[in-house]
Amino acid sequence: MNVHVTASTAASTATRTPTPITVAYGDGIGPEIMKASLKVLEAAGAALAPEPIAIGEQVYLNGVSAGIEDSAWESLRRTKVFYKAPITTPQGGGFKSLNVTVRKSLGLFANVRPCAALSPFVATRHPDMDVVIVRENEEDLYAGIEHRQTDEVVQCLKLISRPGCERIVRYAFDYARANGRKKVTCLSKDNIMKLTDGLFHEVFDEISKDYPDIKTDHWIIDIGTAKLADAPEQFDVIVTSNLYGDIISDVAAEITGSVGLGGSANIGEHCAMFEAIHGSAPMIAGQNVANPSGLILAGVQMLVHIGQADVAEKLHNAWLKTLEDGVHTVDIASEGMTKEQVGTDAFADAVIARLGQEPTHFTPVRYNAETGGVAIAPYQRRERQTKTLVGVDVFVDMPTQNPDDLANKLNLAAGGAALSLKMITNRGVKVWPQGLPETFKTDHWRCRFMGDGVRKNADVVDLLARLEKSGVDFVKTEQLYEFDGKPGYSLGQGQ
Ligand code: NAD
Repeated sequence: MNVHVTASTAASTATRTPTPITVAYGDGIGPEIMKASLKVLEAAGAALAPEPIAIGEQVYLNGVSAGIEDSAWESLRRTKVFYKAPITTPQGGGFKSLNVTVRKSLGLFANVRPCAALSPFVATRHPDMDVVIVRENEEDLYAGIEHRQTDEVVQCLKLISRPGCERIVRYAFDYARANGRKKVTCLSKDNIMKLTDGLFHEVFDEISKDYPDIKTDHWIIDIGTAKLADAPEQFDVIVTSNLYGDIISDVAAEITGSVGLGGSANIGEHCAMFEAIHGSAPMIAGQNVANPSGLILAGVQMLVHIGQADVAEKLHNAWLKTLEDGVHTVDIASEGMTKEQVGTDAFADAVIARLGQEPTHFTPVRYNAETGGVAIAPYQRRERQTKTLVGVDVFVDMPTQNPDDLANKLNLAAGGAALSLKMITNRGVKVWPQGLPETFKTDHWRCRFMGDGVRKNADVVDLLARLEKSGVDFVKTEQLYEFDGKPGYSLGQGQ
């Protein structure tokens, strides 16, 4: 196991002022694994002052659709460190995802999920796997901006920002450097989404130049995911956008053979949240059988973050030793490897009994006591580029299937306007001029109008007024701009 290599200088834990942290015990197995985890952290010498808050099922059922009371924000904004057990999301609509709310409200832009094999103690086909997924946490399709635009068509906006890309990519490189990692791999789909995923890849290439000591590569997400599932030992740190990161981090955790053992950190400029990757497992709640390891490892990430790396190191090594010694909870117990099958509390006690010991099969973990995690510099905006309006895409709802009729109607309506019709697409494929009769069409038409020279928004307003007068049912518009002379819009497929 090739985890963290920088030497630790054991600070005196006795003299530390306790760090206030906000703690949520959550639902299902949450309270029992949180109790066990806090006990282990404290026994390891963590200087913590926990402040409990209520979140989750009971709060949802009390009518708070966000799953968190207003009063809890005060603690979170003051401590800036959130140690969170899993919660149960009630069935049925109307409940917002608490995780998404907390991540976005506190600006937790980086989701960091280490996925390392624990072979042979936990069975896996990939014994040398040791990957850290760094996932962008705030934007992409998860901005949740969705609309139904016509009878047949709904849309979800994929928002990717330059600050979002720069911050996550820089974090991935800084994380790699702080943890002795050798390579950062970018995953995107920029062969198809040339502007959004193209920006992510472009920023990756730009920022990698500041880290000549770290190797880089880029894979298209589909083949990249296949390679990750087949040969994860070829990856080190992976950085990717929100949706891809969500999917591949579950793939990666699953193939370690130990999805129940994963911890994750959600990191922002001001605050951070640490949790297990699994849910509240209501079926086994209250039975003292749940594995507290995911939350303990999230606690290890938290200790590094708050500058108690020496405690993190001691705890992580004792945890590895416990697994090596064959002390396992039921979810990871196996014939031949398990010497003692234990419950939640007994597992915590076994880790505590090994504090100060190091693993002999696994390479002992080393955390960086100097930095206490990755420093995040405030974001510096670059100079704005010159934006020039060159046209507009008008999206039209038309149930009939003939693009020639639509083009005639639009040309008639727009006659004399500064912007004229250049192209119509349906679901992105050009259907006018010279479309193919074989192309399947919906009731949602993107009609591209352009004009010579620099245009004004007034030209768009004038065009829309003419379309309105002619009874064209437009459902949205997107202005077409050039930035420093470079088109800021994609061509139609087949254009
Ligand atoms: P889950 O992760 O709770 O359970 C999946 C399976 O893994 C179950 O068989 C469970 O018994 C087992 N499992 C999970 N954690 C375990 C542990 N620590 N030790 C031993 N076994 C463990 O996923 P689910 O069943 O899909 O979801 C249950 C609830 O959790 C849902 O309400 C869901 O919305 C919620 N959830 C919350 C979070 C979170 O708070 N971060 C994340 C995922 C799911």
